Amino acid sequence: MNAINFQDKIAGIREIQFKKQPEEKYDSDWICPYCGFIDFDAFELGDSDDKAECQMCGSIVSYEREVHFTYRVCPVKPQEVIEL
Ligand SMILES: [Zn+2]
Repeated sequence: MNAINFQDKIAGIREIQFKKQPEEKYDSDWICPYCGFIDFDAFELGDSDDKAECQMCGSIVSYEREVHFTYRVCPVKPQEVIEL
């Protein structure tokens, strides 16, 4: 990532570790396999099975989005129990 401030004529850069032979990532975060950038706004990306450009290094990656549901079940009204 870089930053340019034209008003103060300042430019900054940050070195990134770029993997030339990246491996597939499987994580709860969207992590670029090339540079390790975590895209916390990945939920804004299009549907899964799509391609995206890394905002950090510009590499093209494909991704799948898996959605997991968790249910919280609370008691409301019990069924009447018939004693035998
Ligand atoms: Zn990247």
